[in-house]
Amino acid sequence: MAAAARILGHTPDPERTVALAARLCYSARTVAELSDGLAGGEVTTLLGKLLDMGHLSALEHAAFTFGVEGISRACSHQLVRHRLASYSQQSQRYVELRDVQAVVPPSVAADPELAARFQEELERQWRAYADLVDRGVPAEDARYLLPNACETKLVVTMNARELRHFFRLRLCRRAQWEIRDLALAMLRAVVPVAPRLFAGAGPGCIGGACPEGAYACGDADGVRAELGPLVGV
Ligand SMILES: Cc1cc2nc3c(=O)[nH]c(=O)nc-3n(C[C@H](O)[C@H](O)[C@H](O)COP(=O)(O)OP(=O)(O)OC[C@H]3O[C@@H](n4cnc5c(N)ncnc54)[C@H](O)[C@@H]3O)c2cc1C
Repeated sequence: MAAAARILGHTPDPERTVALAARLCYSARTVAELSDGLAGGEVTTLLGKLLDMGHLSALEHAAFTFGVEGISRACSHQLVRHRLASYSQQSQRYVELRDVQAVVPPSVAADPELAARFQEELERQWRAYADLVDRGVPAEDARYLLPNACETKLVVTMNARELRHFFRLRLCRRAQWEIRDLALAMLRAVVPVAPRLFAGAGPGCIGGACPEGAYACGDADGVRAELGPLVGV
């Protein structure tokens, strides 16, 4: 199963909520007056200004909750390094993982001989895990045998500011392939809900020169071709 991310819920009317917060910062009017008079066109203008100015704290008023599946523990370990988010992850203490459910990296899957060897190794590890559990070892201890490839699932909540930051780091071609796939799935999920909040989201090169210096992938045009249509660049 490939990395899958679907939106489970989000702040109601996320773009309008952020725009209202922005409007409040620069107006003497009451909240009710600001809310009543906030029309669609002005939402677009206000969100554009926030992004241009880098007044990104207003984006924290819009939160998005994702159901994430089909990723490896190697990937989830990278995901949870993003601290400005909330996570609930399937427990390897309480859930016995009897069947081989693992992510096979494309570099392995591309070679039939390596793929067969990889699968054999996974099955050997899972058999040893099941054997320990059958002999009364708690799942929380038997899991020490499970590999980084082991599939996991999470519920993740991030606000729009953190999501933009996450997309900046993890949609760069320097990011590891699996978390990049996940970031792309998350971007594809949020754009239809809040296209203006995620306008121009992505790595540094999406809106200008690559900031990675000596580590640049050298294909900023390719990145723009891949992501630009999605984020309106
Ligand atoms: C290409 C790549 C390679 C990587 N390689 C490694 C590696 O080899 N080893 C490794 O350990 N990690 C590695 N990482 C992970 C990286 O170091 C970060 O832990 C991860 O990307 C989370 O990003 P963040 O720190 O910006 O955090 P987030 O938690 O997403 O925080 C967002 C922002 O909030 C602010 N912030 C959050 N917490 C604090 C705080 N305590 N103090 C001050 N400001 C804060 C910072 O401005 C931060 O950028 C790599 C990441 C990438 C993208």
